Amino acid sequence: MSRIERRKLSDDYEVVDVLGRGGFSIVRKGIRKSSIREKNQNQNQNQVAIKTLRRLGGYTPPGPLQTYHGHKKRLPSWNQNQISISDALLTNEIVVMRRIVEKVSPHTNVINLYDVYEDVDGVHLVLELCSGGELFDRIIAQERYSEFEASVVVQQIASGLAALHKANIVHRDLKPENCLFLDSSARSPLKIMDFGLSSVEDHTDPIIALFGSIDYVSPEALSRREVSAASDMWSLGVILYILLSGCPPFTASTNREKQQRILAGDFNFEDPTWKTISFSAKDLISRLLSVETYKRPTASDLLKHPWVIGDSAKEELMDSEVVTKLQRFNARRKLRAAAIASVLSSKVALRTKRLKSLLGSNDLTTEEIENLRLHFKRICANGENATLSEFEE
Ligand code: ATP
Repeated sequence: MSRIERRKLSDDYEVVDVLGRGGFSIVRKGIRKSSIREKNQNQNQNQVAIKTLRRLGGYTPPGPLQTYHGHKKRLPSWNQNQISISDALLTNEIVVMRRIVEKVSPHTNVINLYDVYEDVDGVHLVLELCSGGELFDRIIAQERYSEFEASVVVQQIASGLAALHKANIVHRDLKPENCLFLDSSARSPLKIMDFGLSSVEDHTDPIIALFGSIDYVSPEALSRREVSAASDMWSLGVILYILLSGCPPFTASTNREKQQRILAGDFNFEDPTWKTISFSAKDLISRLLSVETYKRPTASDLLKHPWVIGDSAKEELMDSEVVTKLQRFNARRKLRAAAIASVLSSKVALRTKRLKSLLGSNDLTTEEIENLRLHFKRICANGENATLSEFEE
């Protein structure tokens, strides 16, 4: 047995609180055991986030692959015909994280991967711990904020994206929930994370992020055309629109109508809250939300944009209504995410009807229904094969 095969997560980390759950994962806080033994006082460096990507049973990992730090590990190969969707997601996230370590890290605005362990339960990614909370949670904790503060957020996301895109990585699922602050200090960096649906240039996969909210999904992703770095810029445009108004740009009473508006790039600045927003910010949003991908600025362009660097971003506090609306939008999103997570993790809730009604539509696209079907398949497999008790709580 090689040295790496004997490495166990529990030898090196004490796993403590659950930080969150994703569709295919559980994230827990970990403390380096060496730091406990050595009574190392610098807790920041010794606390990590451990993201466990659970593998379904029923397939044998093929040959060994090199991990980024040269250890041999047995990881699944990429063959969409032989592996299930969650294996595909699991593999994808590891491939992308490895590319990040090789080509991007360390970067202030991209989550850092420290180590990878593999055991019967799946793969454990040891990640930089972000204890500062989600982007929108921190914003709404303030009574009011300024365009300038929003520009700092956009600058940080653009900086992370510029590095990822330079390494030919497309995030493909950029949304505020995937942007976490490193710590609770006022000047904390914002980190882009969750690369489960990302792609690297020589590694195209068939998974499209259409499960759950489509608020941040670009027209080309919706219409199954090529998803590229420009698609991330669209998502950033949506985040910016919400930051400055508290509402998403494409709203409609049904999912289908929302899709049509996204495909047509049909948004406006008619709400009274836009009256006081600078022309420069609105112009930037209009460019980012161009249906034609070539018209969107790149992440590097953004880092030179006068509004993004703070020159033309207003320093006066925006209307308090923006925070109120953002609070409502964020609360609705959380409720919906929690409901979906509970349905996904509950055995009682294998019924399509209930999840469909939670997703708020009789109007799901074929693609979404297919994604639901795959999720249900996964839940069924969980019911039969579950080994990690945390997934069953
Ligand atoms: P999905 O994987 O289905 O897209 P997700 O993005 O919520 O869902 P994860 O990336 O697994 O899934 O994260 C689950 C939760 O764990 C997140 O909501 C986040 O709050 C928390 N989390 C993830 N990574 C970290 C981290 N490095 N530090 C602190 N908390 C984290």
